[in-house]
Amino acid sequence: MQECVRSPVVAIQPELLDQLLKSPRLPSIPAVALKIIDLVQQDEVNMDEIAETIRQDPALATKILKTVNSSFYGQPKSIGSISQALVVLGLNSVKTLALGFCLVGNLAKAGGDGFDHDPYWKRSLFAAAAAKQICNHMVIVQAEEVFTAALLQDVGILAFSQVLGRKYATIQRNSKGDHHTLVELERKELQGDHAEAGAALIEGWGLPPVIAEPIRYHESPDDAPENVILLARAVAAGGYIADLLTRPDDVTAAEQCNQRLSAWFGMEPEQTEQLLSDTHLHAKEIQHLFAVPDEDLGSTDEILRQAKEVLERVSLSTAKQADELQRTNQQLEQQVNTDALTGVSNRRRFDADAAACFADATLSRPMSILFMDIDRFKEFNDTYGHATGDLALQAFANALLEASGNVGTVYRYGGEEFAMLFPGVDRKAATLIAETIRESVDRDVTVEGPEGQRLNVTVSIGVVTHDGQFFKRVDQFVKAADRGVYSAKAAGRNCVRVFVPRTSEKSEAA
Ligand code: GH3
Ligand code: MG
Ligand code: MG
Repeated sequence: MQECVRSPVVAIQPELLDQLLKSPRLPSIPAVALKIIDLVQQDEVNMDEIAETIRQDPALATKILKTVNSSFYGQPKSIGSISQALVVLGLNSVKTLALGFCLVGNLAKAGGDGFDHDPYWKRSLFAAAAAKQICNHMVIVQAEEVFTAALLQDVGILAFSQVLGRKYATIQRNSKGDHHTLVELERKELQGDHAEAGAALIEGWGLPPVIAEPIRYHESPDDAPENVILLARAVAAGGYIADLLTRPDDVTAAEQCNQRLSAWFGMEPEQTEQLLSDTHLHAKEIQHLFAVPDEDLGSTDEILRQAKEVLERVSLSTAKQADELQRTNQQLEQQVNTDALTGVSNRRRFDADAAACFADATLSRPMSILFMDIDRFKEFNDTYGHATGDLALQAFANALLEASGNVGTVYRYGGEEFAMLFPGVDRKAATLIAETIRESVDRDVTVEGPEGQRLNVTVSIGVVTHDGQFFKRVDQFVKAADRGVYSAKAAGRNCVRVFVPRTSEKSEAA
């Protein structure tokens, strides 16, 4: 984590960055936070000294103790002192919390004239509580860092407001309270966004990359380096959940929240609902740390009822869209594999099925193919017209479908050539089927001619069977079936010829 590559998503203008970092109006990092960072980085970490430093700031010590004793941390026994917290939760957790609270305390009143602090801290609070829940769900070990990063993710907004004053107030007003519109406007008007500005500030204050980098990428987590993506997503998801909790009747907020939680963490709608409810409860528990007045967070029941209703509507419509898409895909798939005139499978489908069938054939489970060509069909067309020819092709395909039962599949190979694939059918059975088909075509396939006459077609059929032994490739096998048809034509048409490989005792025979 220490070696995060610094590749900003939106490179903020150097002059603006300089202005931000040097602004005397922006609060600097409090002395106690600096001391903690310093102590933690020393070779021999002195736990007593760290505990003592925190204790010197009683407000900070109280906030940390209240937090670690909230149900958020689920500690079985209450933790009575900072030293105990350091032992039970570890140095890292306590340090991260201390830094977060120092900064929040210092930033509470930052922002330009007329900056609306309530919605700002409310969003940060919800986002931090939600991000922590997500860490639990995803078993992310850097939960404290993610909590702090989520809490401070929008610190760039405070800085912009403080340093740019009216100019930023206009951008904020134009975003109409929508966080993602705000980011777009920042990028357009300032050639940089609050994510990048915030990360630069956090870095400047000496906080580690594990906090700064998720902040940098929280508006576009998927652009983050691989080791940051999950943390950036947790921070960003905190923001989406905060948006929904602050606007529980907003369909777009629900859609975005649902979509991100599902795509990033594989969460089902019920899990999202649970997450919302846990987040709101925990946020209520720690809200005094942010000086957000009690009633401002709203009633948990009311917010959750509304959010749940919107979420349900959204997931219903998403499920419906997915269904429709699947149906359309199936229809398209059906279309590309079907012959338009006869409704049987087409050549494309034949090639795929024949290859699969061929590969599966074995001695104990052979497969057979019937290759068919309608006799003297050119003459038929020339005499009775193309339209009558089409009717004959349809009647012929129907006869094959009827004969195929559940065993075989019918394909129009092209023109007046058809094929049938019979998986699991040996040569003897295939020959019998072929003969039955030939007979029934001769007897039953008739169409009405232009003058009301009954017209009949006949077919020549080649049969070939594969048992995994003789043919090496599927095209050799199909070619052999075609040779069967050729023999049938040569023998006078309206008959069946079976291709028998030379290695067998019998030669080609009917
Ligand atoms: P053979 O007994 O040797 O197979 O003679 P044939 O006339 O059936 O063979 P040939 O290959 O010379 O002619 C095939 C004919 O099939 C030519 C073409 O007009 C006809 N045909 C191909 N596709 C269609 C179609 O979609 N509709 C109609 N009506 N005719 C078609
Ligand atoms: Mg943000
Ligand atoms: Mg023909």
